[in-house]
Amino acid sequence: MANLPSKDASILIVGAGVFGLSTALELAQQGYKKIKVLDRGAEIPSAYSAGCDLNKIVRAEYENSFYTDLALESIRQWQSPFYATCYRHLGYVLATSAASPQKARDTLAKAFSSIENHPAFPDGSFLPIASAADVKAFAPQLDGPMIGWEGYINKHAGYARASKALTKVYEACIDLGVSFVMGDDGHATGVLYEESGKSKQCIGVKAKSGTMHFADKTILCLGAYIAKLVPTIAAQITAKSWAVAHLQLTPEEVKSMIGIPVVNCRDLGFFFEPDEETGLMKLCAHSAGYTNYEGGASVPSEGPNDRIPEEDERKIRQLIIETMPQFAGRPLVNRFICWCADTVDSEYIIDAVPGCKDLMVVAGDSGHAFKMLPIAGRWARALLEDGEQKVQRWKWKTQINESSEDISWRVGKLRDVKEVAEWAKSSKL
Ligand SMILES: Cc1cc2nc3c(=O)[nH]c(=O)nc-3n(C[C@H](O)[C@H](O)[C@H](O)COP(=O)(O)OP(=O)(O)OC[C@H]3O[C@@H](n4cnc5c(N)ncnc54)[C@H](O)[C@@H]3O)c2cc1C
Repeated sequence: MANLPSKDASILIVGAGVFGLSTALELAQQGYKKIKVLDRGAEIPSAYSAGCDLNKIVRAEYENSFYTDLALESIRQWQSPFYATCYRHLGYVLATSAASPQKARDTLAKAFSSIENHPAFPDGSFLPIASAADVKAFAPQLDGPMIGWEGYINKHAGYARASKALTKVYEACIDLGVSFVMGDDGHATGVLYEESGKSKQCIGVKAKSGTMHFADKTILCLGAYIAKLVPTIAAQITAKSWAVAHLQLTPEEVKSMIGIPVVNCRDLGFFFEPDEETGLMKLCAHSAGYTNYEGGASVPSEGPNDRIPEEDERKIRQLIIETMPQFAGRPLVNRFICWCADTVDSEYIIDAVPGCKDLMVVAGDSGHAFKMLPIAGRWARALLEDGEQKVQRWKWKTQINESSEDISWRVGKLRDVKEVAEWAKSSKL
């Protein structure tokens, strides 16, 4: 029987993004009384969180059923009263275009095989896409040529209003007495250890301002930034970034596009229903991602991140031409590269740092953790209370055989931001 931590134990959560906020809420709901959350951002959502965004896809297709089942549980939570206002269950178009490489077609087929016979999906959940006409029959607003599009529509999926959901979780944490420290006082620059004989204990972190934050248990939820505090994790985690851009629509145009499903063309990119408040429609480009190597580890570049590679802008424009030609030629606004923490096998790492059981990491999101916001905190609590990671796939790995170059479900060639020859220069055509 594990030695359960006392509900009066002081718990420091460093990083208030998806994993950090979810963990804070779960622990507070379970009666932990002394929870402090640090974040380097000025406010929640932190500008440094990959989740600080208009929206994120919430879908259950994965290359393996372990995550499919977790995602299905999370989708149930997204539809619960607490999260429902931050979730749109509009369906998901997953396709490849005529120019798609075989790898993207294989990924799509694997994703479909994880859900096609799953009992959670009632009859009629899926519609085949054999041509553009099948997409248009489901979403008449998408009247572009979609040349050679093939795939399927999954009606049991949607998207989360990302920043709104993070804010909601943050507010619920505040109501339950969680304290937050933001900015330089919350910006952790080093882990504090106490060593006696052979044992090493984590006693908290030091902040950029010089403030020391002490705690019985420290949980690092630093997303792509994790290797800055725990350099030994760099063998398992590679910070990578992807291009995000937006179209600014008029109120009439927004109205005309309300209700569209999430559209994901595996070789080009994906986009969402426009946001009614701002009129912004978010689009992302698919690629293998961009690293930023500094001294042996890839960590997010500190800037400028408000630009996207030309190749990605081309893909996004092609996606618009294929699906919504009425917006072709429109400037792309709010462009940036967004960082997350890729592992070679896309498995999360939720474990104690070897040799230091009071220091835990909830990391390695691999670009698919936002959808887990409603349930991820449970995994961190299980680790805290069990005193060890019982789920083999989430353990800290010492032996890494694969390369971070070729992730099974990502298309293209991994490059470093310093190798990008052409950053899209203008938001105008
Ligand atoms: C382009 C893009 C698109 C994505 N689309 C999807 C999607 O459609 N669906 C989906 O499920 N997921 C998606 N994701 C992935 C999702 O955003 C991430 O999996 C998720 O945000 C990871 O959560 P996290 O808590 O590990 O990291 P983050 O959410 O990035 O949070 C890390 C936090 O740590 C803080 N921090 C960093 N350094 C420090 C420090 N030294 N001290 C204190 N605080 C610090 C940051 O401010 C931040 O708040 C996407 C990611 C990207 C990049």
